[in-house]
Amino acid sequence: MSEPTSNFIRDIILADNESGKHAGRVQTRFPPEPNGYLHVGHAKSITINFGLAAEFGGMCNLRFDDTNPAKEELEYVESIIEDVKWLGGDFGDRIYYASDYFGQLYDWSCQLIRDGHAYVCDLTPEQVRLSRGTLTEPGQNSPYRDRSIEENLDLFTRMKAGEFPDGSRTLRAKIDMASANLNFRDPVMYRILHAEHHRTGNEWCIYPMYDWAHGQSDSIERITHSICTLEFEDHRPLYDWYVQRLGIFAPRQIEFDRLNLTYTMMSKRKLLQLVQQNLVESWDDPRMPTISGMRRRGYSPQGLRNFAQNLGVSKTNGTTEFEKLEFFIREDLNKTARRAMAVIKPLKLIIDNYPEGQTEWLDACNYPDNETDLRKVPFTRELWIECDDFEETPPKGFFRLYPGNEVRLRWGFFVKCVSLDKDADGNVTAIHCTYDPASRGGNSLDGRKVKSTIHWVSAAHAVAAEIRLYDKLFTKEDPNDVPEGQDFTANLNPKSLVKVQGWLEPALAETQPGDRYQFERLAYFCADKSSTKEKLVFNRTVELRDTWAKEKKKS
Ligand code: ATP
Ligand code: MG
Repeated sequence: MSEPTSNFIRDIILADNESGKHAGRVQTRFPPEPNGYLHVGHAKSITINFGLAAEFGGMCNLRFDDTNPAKEELEYVESIIEDVKWLGGDFGDRIYYASDYFGQLYDWSCQLIRDGHAYVCDLTPEQVRLSRGTLTEPGQNSPYRDRSIEENLDLFTRMKAGEFPDGSRTLRAKIDMASANLNFRDPVMYRILHAEHHRTGNEWCIYPMYDWAHGQSDSIERITHSICTLEFEDHRPLYDWYVQRLGIFAPRQIEFDRLNLTYTMMSKRKLLQLVQQNLVESWDDPRMPTISGMRRRGYSPQGLRNFAQNLGVSKTNGTTEFEKLEFFIREDLNKTARRAMAVIKPLKLIIDNYPEGQTEWLDACNYPDNETDLRKVPFTRELWIECDDFEETPPKGFFRLYPGNEVRLRWGFFVKCVSLDKDADGNVTAIHCTYDPASRGGNSLDGRKVKSTIHWVSAAHAVAAEIRLYDKLFTKEDPNDVPEGQDFTANLNPKSLVKVQGWLEPALAETQPGDRYQFERLAYFCADKSSTKEKLVFNRTVELRDTWAKEKKKS
């Protein structure tokens, strides 16, 4: 990982270590709610939390904030564990669940009731909402606010015992209905919900609200620095209020900006909608901004971490260009991906003076700047080349193949176009060339130069593959920008997936799902999870051309 750059979160930790606040201990956590798959925004949070723990010799826990059984599932828990591991988050055996703390939270609620800081309220959720007031008007006290401690304890015990229907009562903190901070207006701590939980089953029919569970979970795990996104800034005073009233370990919350990316979205609710309406294949569809989708598309963990690290942290939310993410992915793949040759819009090239039936195995480098890591590629009389590398009437500045022109075949020979085959409609069906046997390896003996090098595969040896060309999932920078009465799905890009058949050099028949390549001159590709020797499938990860860094240089 690159050198840590200075930021306000690090500065706080440095200052705490300096003052000896936690005796130098640094404990962070990544606390997802298991109500969907992780996305690239979570990758930022993971990089920050695990990164800081690693930097300061501390630890980062993985904690599931599983307080809402209605929306949470085991499938999400499992995918989250896999994704955090894949990104390199080292949580060891420290996987925790807020649901493990339900008993402790219940006891603490009783303590707050006994201390006069909480009460059972019989208002319906709608009534609670209406009596909450607004930013400019104070709320109204609940008529149940002054119940006796005995009555509160009795009712709360019976809530837990399942005596009351869903929504009929809540436990609320007794704070201040006129507070300027709406979170202080007697927030609900527990609601009644007769629902099965993916871990606790039917043990509970009251569930803690996120705001009641979160800070206490941090406290139980003795989190020194509780790092979260900006929307929780107004909740921090409430979290502090709870730990002070309980007299328990007080974590320090620090907020940073959420990642937003152009041409996509991070709302789990909307991502779920895409999955449920079959607008994408699944949560790990390579067009999804999910970590699993990005993995399947071929993004590397290091590339994602580099991106997240470069984002830094700030105190204002903004939107990051999708191209910036692609820049970091490309940069990492450029260093790490094997090179190979593949043709995705094939045109037949026939070398008239090459002996029929002959095969030569040529040396090709697997990585740039490495002359020793080689593979063999077969060269024969009939090759596939890229359609776009030929023009019958070349436009100005076109230096690739056209009648009479000579080019270099990558790792091979010079070839010169001598004639064309056409069908009845006049379309070129094959091009005929002659080759210069003395140019083996890519240079002519007489010092003759060519202006282009093109890629190719031997037609007789090529293996077929389904090539999935992915593009942005949405056509608009802000997918939520839609006319009245429509939703974000109106901005889905109908061309976000185009499948074509390509021809690959034979060594690629052995690829395993997840293998990443640069198909020279085309793009980076990754063997899909469904890819087999019988049916190879490659996903286009990211194109070679970099628009982002170039634009940045200009400005
Ligand atoms: P929901 O949309 O369901 O409210 P969420 O997006 O807040 O969920 P969580 O599972 O609660 O997701 O998030 C886990 C952690 O990841 C939290 O600390 C949260 O602040 C952080 N996080 C979530 N989205 C982003 C984002 N876009 N950028 C940075 N961090 C994020
Ligand atoms: Mg959340």
